Amino acid sequence: GSRVFEPLTVVLMSYGEMRYSAYSAQRIMDVQREETMDGTGSIDPHGQIVFDLVTFGYDANAPVLKDLSFTIEPNTITALVGPSGSGKSTVTRLIARFWDVQQGSIKIGEQSIKHADPENLLKHISMVFQDVYLFQDTIGNNIRIGKMDATQEEIEAAAKRACCHEFISQLPQGYDTPVGEGGSTLSGGEKQRISIARALLKDASIVLLDEATASLDPENEAAVQQAINELVARKTVMIIAHRLKTIQNADKILVLEQGRLIEAGTHSDLCAKEGLYANLWSLQHDSDGWRVK
Ligand code: ADP
Ligand code: MG
Repeated sequence: GSRVFEPLTVVLMSYGEMRYSAYSAQRIMDVQREETMDGTGSIDPHGQIVFDLVTFGYDANAPVLKDLSFTIEPNTITALVGPSGSGKSTVTRLIARFWDVQQGSIKIGEQSIKHADPENLLKHISMVFQDVYLFQDTIGNNIRIGKMDATQEEIEAAAKRACCHEFISQLPQGYDTPVGEGGSTLSGGEKQRISIARALLKDASIVLLDEATASLDPENEAAVQQAINELVARKTVMIIAHRLKTIQNADKILVLEQGRLIEAGTHSDLCAKEGLYANLWSLQHDSDGWRVK
């Protein structure tokens, strides 16, 4: 499969055509993907998200996720933990249906996402991924992607909640500042916060966060973390974080190893199990819970 938001894709499609969705970009780039555009069902964004014996591989002969089953309750935070390559990012991308699964099903409410109208599905999902792609447009318009008819007041309100209003206002052109190619004139943390402002403005019921605070300096990490806390309030959230401290209060933690679910529970459940999660936790923290690396 190809990466989402290839620069080529952005050049090929006007904003309107791609409806600002990673989904559309991926569909055009990824010719391997099974075509099931017959989907017309609409999803209930306040329903459970259910993985039922999901098996998926980018190459059908090499499954990356194997017989994966779990349920995400509405308005809860579910964290995905596991070694690099265990399939965490793949899980979040499957919820947004970048690809279709080879076996099993993913349902939101009663609706299998394979038969949902893609636009309807994406309307209910906000994604904040590590590699933020900003369009070659103004900062304001990059936030507006979340809600095309938003007023300037709404854009600024979202930016304030995402801890980016301050730095944007200090730029000579403010919200009208053009973003360089791929957003290169902004730091990683600033781009992250702009993408979180976009997601806040969109106000979708389902939020997918993939290592959103990875590779940020501590100052930016704190600001991004605060922005994330705003974003996930009263939403159905799936979050991937390398730093376990940031997900220790999740309602449920799912531990993946080589594409299989090997442990599930709360932080204290999993610490008591003394399995992989407890191991990962002790590698990152001393006995008082402080981060040691
Ligand atoms: P994690 O997020 O836990 O590090 P990923 O879901 O990114 O794991 O990756 C799981 C496996 O799938 C890895 O072996 C990875 O190399 C592979 N993989 C991830 N994305 C793609 C892709 N777009 N095309 C092919 N293989 C991929
Ligand atoms: Mg990943």
